[in-house]
Amino acid sequence: MSRVYNFSAGPAVLPEEVLKEAAAEMMDYQGTGMSVMEMSHRSKAFQGIIDEAEKDLRELMNIPDNYKVLFLQGGASQQFAMIPMNLFKNKVGDYIITGQWAKKAWQEAKLYGTANAIASSADKTFSYIPDCSDLPIDDNADYVYICQNNTIYGTVYHELPNTKGKTLVADISSCFLSEPIDVTKYGVIYGGVQKNVGPAGTVIVIIREDLITEDVLPGTPTMLKYKTHADAGSLYNTPPCYGIYMCGKVFKWLKAKGGLAAMKELNEKKAKILYDFLDSSKLFKGTVEKKDRSLMNVPFVTGNEELDALFVKEAKAAGLENLKGHRTVGGMRASIYNAMPIEGVEKLVAFMKDFEEKHS
Ligand SMILES: *Cc1c(COP(=O)(O)O)cnc(C)c1O
Repeated sequence: MSRVYNFSAGPAVLPEEVLKEAAAEMMDYQGTGMSVMEMSHRSKAFQGIIDEAEKDLRELMNIPDNYKVLFLQGGASQQFAMIPMNLFKNKVGDYIITGQWAKKAWQEAKLYGTANAIASSADKTFSYIPDCSDLPIDDNADYVYICQNNTIYGTVYHELPNTKGKTLVADISSCFLSEPIDVTKYGVIYGGVQKNVGPAGTVIVIIREDLITEDVLPGTPTMLKYKTHADAGSLYNTPPCYGIYMCGKVFKWLKAKGGLAAMKELNEKKAKILYDFLDSSKLFKGTVEKKDRSLMNVPFVTGNEELDALFVKEAKAAGLENLKGHRTVGGMRASIYNAMPIEGVEKLVAFMKDFEEKHS
């Protein structure tokens, strides 16, 4: 067996320790005589798994008691609709457009009411985060929406927008658990877990209790009401059992590593290795404004498409996989999530240095 360094943006690398544990428990989960994939979601064993996962996540993120944690399905994209369906009272949402995922969320919200684009970085291919200190927030806005870490473009909000008192809603799919955040600053935080937390199929929503009501848009399906899932402890119907189990294992792994503050330190160290090299390279260059650089997704280019393609191909042959940039951007992108070991980043930079010597 040989494993590669997997720089995929998602589904993405998971900690090897977690995969090994899951493998060891595959045939017989803790004396139940079955795998977690085979057990009833109403069983005592599974209730233990989901309760423990929630408890560990609350501890890791320091989630206050007046927030619910929901384990849902439908991916992050389903939330693009659930948010307006559940939060629209005045039917107005203010969106900051910093990339494709924010744009998709904005477009979806337009199906249900007024969705204002109050700022955008589309003018420079989403290579920066706009100044959000004094935005034209609508008096009637039910919330202000951001995509906190822009997976495709490699930008992150280092400072949250001034929402002028409005509820902040954030898609944190690709920076989930990468560093500590202050949950109290948000009304809703959500993310598909396949970027930085677990396998595809689970989305985690952290939502302040007062935002969970029966007062949703008429026609909202039962399955798309936060209240349905909050009232049932995420067990209204069959949840993504195996995904929740894997997330739980990752939470334990993170706790053992020292929690999110330790993770942040490690992530900063990893990103610095790559960004320092990009800043000194004669061949490669980063595509994002320095002040807005993501710790998780690092896009870069050579400026020559053929050379980019050759780089991706040769990197793959050297065991460095999934470095091709998003189809809408081109070039390369290295996603260096929590589970990417520092050795992976060092290997990548060594390979880039080598490539640069050969081609410049
Ligand atoms: C991947 C991604 C999505 C889409 O996730 P799905 O689970 O495929 O719907 C949304 N937002 C961000 C920031 C992402 O990285």
